[in-house]
Formats: sequence, structure tokens, C-alpha cells
Amino acid sequence: METKYIFVTGGVTSSLGKGIISASLAKLLQARGYRVTIQKFDPYINIDPGTLNPYEHGECYVTVDGHEADLDLGHYERFTNVETTRANNITTGRIYQNVIEKERRGDYLGKTVQIIPHITDEIKRNVKLLGTKNQYDFVITEIGGTVGDIESLPFLESVRQLKWELGKNCMVVHLTYVPYIAAAKELKTKPTQHSVKHLQEVGIQPDILVLRTEHELTADVRRKVALFCNVDPSAVFQSIDVPSVFEVPLRMQDQGLDEIVLQKVGLPVGEKPALAPWKEFLNKIYNATEIVTIGIVGKYVELQDAYKSINEALFQAATYNNRKLKLEFIHSEKLTNENVASQLKDLDGIVIAPGFGNRGIEGKFVALKYARENNVPTFGICLGMQCMVIEFARNVLGYDDANSTEMDVKTKHNVIDLMEEQKSVSNYGGTMRLGAYECTLTQGSKAAKAYGSTDIKERHRHRFEFNSDYRAEFEKAGMKCVGENPETHLVEVVEIPELNWFIGTQYHPEYTSTVLKPNPLFVDFIKAAIENKKN
Ligand code: GLN
Repeated sequence: METKYIFVTGGVTSSLGKGIISASLAKLLQARGYRVTIQKFDPYINIDPGTLNPYEHGECYVTVDGHEADLDLGHYERFTNVETTRANNITTGRIYQNVIEKERRGDYLGKTVQIIPHITDEIKRNVKLLGTKNQYDFVITEIGGTVGDIESLPFLESVRQLKWELGKNCMVVHLTYVPYIAAAKELKTKPTQHSVKHLQEVGIQPDILVLRTEHELTADVRRKVALFCNVDPSAVFQSIDVPSVFEVPLRMQDQGLDEIVLQKVGLPVGEKPALAPWKEFLNKIYNATEIVTIGIVGKYVELQDAYKSINEALFQAATYNNRKLKLEFIHSEKLTNENVASQLKDLDGIVIAPGFGNRGIEGKFVALKYARENNVPTFGICLGMQCMVIEFARNVLGYDDANSTEMDVKTKHNVIDLMEEQKSVSNYGGTMRLGAYECTLTQGSKAAKAYGSTDIKERHRHRFEFNSDYRAEFEKAGMKCVGENPETHLVEVVEIPELNWFIGTQYHPEYTSTVLKPNPLFVDFIKAAIENKKN
């Protein structure tokens, strides 16, 4: 079958949930047996979001092949269970970089290099790459930003060209907003009309409209939008606020979004898939009444997307343990020995967040000391694991100045140190130890029991590591290194077996946790937190 290309664009405002609509459509097509992948184009100039502050762009997601990616790729994986790669997230910066490299190599010798056709050709090549190379039936491409943005223009021009070239094998789903004016008690379609006009001005006629709304759309509103926007009334969908984003695929299925897509690309519609495991997950969400309270200790507490994948992994794990997750964000900069007990006493489990740099680091040690001494289930992730090691060195091994050389280059007790291969690195972008690596777990360790295996593979994003010179000393004092890379012996997992659940991972297990396949370590952590609550 020829690959079908679906573009998802947005108008009126950002944050309408293009990522969730893309992921939901992918889910529905996948449930009908198609191979689907989702790609995100980001119009900014950064080569990738790896160098972006979470305040700017939320969490940085990491793919198996070590690409630092937009957090929407996390939604794609959580919804579809299909791994994404470097090819699934392209920025304007990368498009330009490729074109400029080609120009320097002499690929365009004699020609003036221009936005059209050179930049647009490069964009088109990157769209088709996933179709031709990996043989997907559907490639869904989400265009970041909103129509009308200067930055989005080359992407939209490429979409226009592809629609022309691919005919029936290509379509555009446009997402807009329908505001409700309370004083007039009316839903307003004008912003939608304007945003479709914008698309039409750049030569794109959307095939399907998805209207984001807080109130049910009347048949009248749909007819009006269809009439003004040259779209079939049956191709106007509503995306209304729902209690859980995981309901969106079902709401889209109810309205027949996947059916319209199949009709438009000329594929048989067939039977409606039951989506049984997905519905079961939703039932678990809605039926859970007992609460499990988890605190995340970090420095980005005012930012809901900074720890997105961790929140989601905890949510999945809680759901599979039939619990409602209550997340508390604890500002590590504000934690002191004086207030720690009052801040953490109501938590059933504690996550020490990943991160970079000195800010808020001392608060993480305060939290860890409290958690260790009070036997609270605790999960250290990446920097969180490194903090577990440092806190143990300071308060158990008695090295008051123990630290990571990231925080103090001159520390005498560098229990966390720069990895050897990082010592020659000078560029910041894309140079960390990134992506999936194998890890061997010690038979009988809590971590191995949680995974039900001693051979695992998880994703990484770090420059510093456990300093193996100290390994014997830590192990003697009760902190065991129970996971290591089979080739380099880099320490990947530490735990204190004496405690109920005190595990730190150098890797980020949250990136592999999906709705239908939650990460086992998170599931086990929540189980321990529930036990802790009972006692
Ligand atoms: N800053 C630490 C390092 O580079 C941890 C990184 C992280 O938490 N992702 O090793």
C-alpha cells in the first residue's frame, strides 16, 4: 500500500492539543491494523530542544536512538507504543543546517539556494523519509505553531506542494478554537473561519476540521463552519474538554474521525475496532477511589510540563495499581532541615527529579536524608540518583564535602564525576550520553524483581556518572550498585536493600512508560508507596 500522509495544523491559538489529536488519530488507525508513525515539525531555529530551558519548552524527551526531542513525541509513544526516532522530530534549524551543509559540499553548485525550492524540498524529503524508509502505512505530521506565523510558512508551502503531488494520498486536518462568549451565550465560529482563510491564502484547503471547544457544538455551528470553510459537514469534528486526555481517541472514534480519514484516502472502512485494552485503562482511571500521594522534589515545580513523562509514568503506574494519583510538587530550593518533616510527612512516596546545575540541589539532599532515615519509598532519577549517592556519601560514609563535579569541580570526594568520554566535549548541543543502552541488573535485587528480568534497556541523558572508585565503600555501607552497563560497567542503578524501596537510576525509565505498557519500575514503586501508606 502506498503511504498516506496526514498533516495536522493548528489555528487561532497554540495549546489546542494538536499532539493529542495526532496521537488519537494514530491510535485509531493503528487499531485497524495500519502501521502508523507521527512526526513533529517545530518551526524554531534550535537544531533540537536539547539546549532549551524547560521554562521555554517543557521537558526534553529522549528517543531510543538518542535524539533530544519535543515532548509531543512522548505523547505519541505513550498513545501508540511505537518508538520514535530522530526522524520524528525536525526543526527549522535542522532543515537549514542540512541545506547549508549541502551547499558547502557543492550539491547545488551554480544555483542560488532559496527557500523555495531548496528549503521546501528538504522539508518534503524529511516528511517522506518515514514513509519510504520504514514502510509506514500512515505518516502523521504535526506542524508546530499556528497558521499565520512567519516561521511556519516554509512548512505550509511544503504541505501545499505535497498535497498537489500526492493527491488522494495526502490530507490536512486543521485544528481550531471555538470560543464561547458567555454574555451572548454563543459559540463563535469567526476565529475558525479566519484561520481557515489563512490556510487557503497559502494554498491549502483543509480536508477535516477539528474544533476545540468547551461546550457541545450544535449541528448549526457545524453546518456554518462547513459552509464557510469548504469542508463537508461530516468532516467537522468537535474536540470538547474531557476529564482525561486518554478519552480523546474514544471521542474521536464516536464521531468517526478515522472513518472519514479512510474514506478520503480511498481505503475500506471496515469494522469499528473495540479498543478493549484502552477502555480498560480508562475504566481503571475512573474507578479508582483510593489515593496514593507522591511528591516530586525538583526545581521546576511551577511548571506543569517540566517533568511531563515522569508525571505520566507515575499516573500509569498508579492507575494499574488501581489508585488515583495525587501529585505534590515540592520546591527543592525551599526545603530545609527545619521544614522537611512538615513538607514530606504526608507523602506515600518521593521522586527526586532529574536536572542540571546547582540550583535547588541542597534541598534534594535534605529530602533524601529524611526519606532514607524514615524509610519512605524513594525513586531517584538521573540527577536524583546522583543526589542519592552524594547524600549517602555525606551522611553515611562521613564525607562532608562529597559532591558531583558538576556542582563543585574541586571536591575531594567526587562520588559523581564527569564521564571519561565527556572530558573532551566542548559543545553543549546533542553531546550528552543519549539514548537507549543495555543494563544488567543483579539477580535478586529489588530492581531486577520489579522488571522480572536482569537484562533491560533504558534511555539516558547525562554527562556525569557514579565514580566506581567508591563502589566497594558504598556497597560495604549498604548502598549497592545493582545495575551496570555490560560493556563499560558504568553504574546504572543503586539501591539500599535494607530499606523498603530506595532505588536510583542513572537512566530515565519514564521515557519508556506507555499507557498499555507501563514501566515496571514505576509500577513497583507505586506498589511500595501503597504499602507504606497502609503501615
Ligand atoms: N546533570 C546530570 C548529568 O549530566 C544529570 C542529568 C539529568 O538528570 N538528566 O549527569
